[in-house]
Amino acid sequence: MKITFIRPNMNARKASDALQPLVFALLAGLTPPDIETTLYDDRIEDIPFDEPTDLVAMTVETFSAKRAYDIAARYRKRGVPVVMGGFHPTLVPKEAAQHATTIVVGDAESIWPQLIADFQQGRLQPTYRATALPSSLNIFFDRRMFEGKSYPPLSLVQWGRGCPHQCEFCSIHAMYDTYQYQRPIDDVITEVEALDSQWLFFVDDNLFAYTKQFTRLLEALKPLHLHWSCQISLEVSYDKTLMTLLEQSGCQAVLIGFESLQLSNLRQMNKLWNVSKLDYATAIKRFYDHGIMVCGTFVLGYDDDTPDSFEQCFDFALTHKLFLSNFNPLTPFPGTPLYRRLQQEGRLIRENWWLDEHYQYGQAVFHPKQMSAEELEQGCFDARRRFNTRASILQRAFHLKANMRNWRNAVFHCAANMINRKEVLRKQGAFLGEHF
Ligand code: SF4
Repeated sequence: MKITFIRPNMNARKASDALQPLVFALLAGLTPPDIETTLYDDRIEDIPFDEPTDLVAMTVETFSAKRAYDIAARYRKRGVPVVMGGFHPTLVPKEAAQHATTIVVGDAESIWPQLIADFQQGRLQPTYRATALPSSLNIFFDRRMFEGKSYPPLSLVQWGRGCPHQCEFCSIHAMYDTYQYQRPIDDVITEVEALDSQWLFFVDDNLFAYTKQFTRLLEALKPLHLHWSCQISLEVSYDKTLMTLLEQSGCQAVLIGFESLQLSNLRQMNKLWNVSKLDYATAIKRFYDHGIMVCGTFVLGYDDDTPDSFEQCFDFALTHKLFLSNFNPLTPFPGTPLYRRLQQEGRLIRENWWLDEHYQYGQAVFHPKQMSAEELEQGCFDARRRFNTRASILQRAFHLKANMRNWRNAVFHCAANMINRKEVLRKQGAFLGEHF
């Protein structure tokens, strides 16, 4: 028996920023050894549709849903059953079920062995609902399927899932609510040691939730002399002891969601806690004092944003020499509280924008309060484009405490910016799906 894992792209154009789809290493690790597994990552390679396979399994995000449904149709046409899981099928299961043989709602690892057993016995169910993961679950990531594929030289690791916060626009909050799962720290450290890689990225949605556990993780990472980066909430900067530990454990860069410079917007998105103890400038300085590079993201289009907000966020990101930054139009992902609110307020321009053949990446899909949808789209793209000019990349590189603290940070700054610059221009205006 053979299972083909597929990571769909958002359209037919290949990407240069695709990271290893770790979920398939996890599923491969849970697959009985007598079953052959293979991976095709649609973002970086063509899918050989004629290759024999018994079962296809895909992870689907909202931006890749349209193309995932096209891929599924091609396999199902020749009688190959297709399993879909991930954020999108979990948040809009009725829609995904129309395009898949089977959908998985929630994290697949708790039901994957049962799903395979059912398939082998010819009784694959239309829906599998995941159960909460026991923290003692022994997870083994089988990464052999990534060998020979052109991913950046970053090893991906996952400590846990979920986030304790409840930001209105966030799909992670919509999927997990405040549920959090964390693997035993000893398991993570054993895995990291076996990876034998100097450059790590923790893919956790928010690496920092509880001080005690996080301190234990950092203490355990310290002797390994690694260089790692992660997504983390700003609150970690409140604790000076943790900040010292972050540096000592090898933290090189953090991605932080600043989202807005307006308190009223932060309140509306349920993220006022972002500034509950420190203003943004002080928090950033704390990271820089420990040599840690900061990537900051902004979301524009909340009700108190005006056409001036783009320039304010752009200036802030440039002045503080964020090594990367993104200026995203607020996007209502299905299943989020934001989507429901905008729908109730009658402000959605395209209800199922992710399937709409006229939708182009970067467009605003709702009516903002203090600007037009076109102004929101253009303002975000202009800020992204200007932030990623060669002059801006060079200007931001000259930060001796962080971005140019040592050769590693300088290389990271340059490589990440060159890839980001290419992707900003490539993605803007792209249609979703696109035919093969
Ligand atoms: S802090 Fe980040 S991951 Fe957590 S709910 Fe907010 S946006 Fe989502």
